[in-house]
Amino acid sequence: MSTVTRIVLASHNQGKLHELQAMFAPLGVQLIAQSELDIPEAPEPFHTFVENALAKARHASRYSGLPALADDAGLCVDAFEGLPGVQTAFYCTQFGYTKSDDNNRRALLEQMQNITDRKAALVSTLVALRHTDDPEPLIASGRAEGEITRELRGANGFGFDPVMFIPELNLTFAEMTDEEKNQRSHRGQAARLMRELMQQRWLK
Ligand code: IMP
Repeated sequence: MSTVTRIVLASHNQGKLHELQAMFAPLGVQLIAQSELDIPEAPEPFHTFVENALAKARHASRYSGLPALADDAGLCVDAFEGLPGVQTAFYCTQFGYTKSDDNNRRALLEQMQNITDRKAALVSTLVALRHTDDPEPLIASGRAEGEITRELRGANGFGFDPVMFIPELNLTFAEMTDEEKNQRSHRGQAARLMRELMQQRWLK
């Protein structure tokens, strides 16, 4: 499929869009945000990242008639046996807060106040489809391991970046430049794998 030049990005998350657009620029394809095409958000009813990413990509492709790329991401905390996982975006709502990045970070720091095991991973699964009924979705995953801080650190990035501390660099993701974060983040790893897959399978 050497004609792929435009791909719709199945996300309304500005932070993700910004990162993915930078990481796919070298491929020479244009990533168009689904909000630009007035595509509503897809339901994400499943228990795994890959199922939700596939649902989002299918939804965007169905609405746009274009190939689609979706990312489903979240935080998996060791002390919570991998949760909140696919529920990460809504994490704070189970404690009575309204949904926001701010409240998610606040709720996490509160819930981990008395927990000494701070290990956690941010994970990202990317799924790409040539069309709604594509029987061979491209799938790429990435995982960044770190520790949850006890207070916010740094002002870059989005979501849990200010509490996600990477010991080898002695920095949180929010204290890194975009390039530094992309170099080692869950989404950076997944995007590099996905770029290779697209190159081999779609753009040859
Ligand atoms: P979703 O995949 O857009 O549903 O995002 C899931 C949740 O994970 C949201 O609360 C995001 O803020 C958070 N999240 C996703 N990617 C990142 C990241 O790169 N850094 C920090 N938080 C993230």
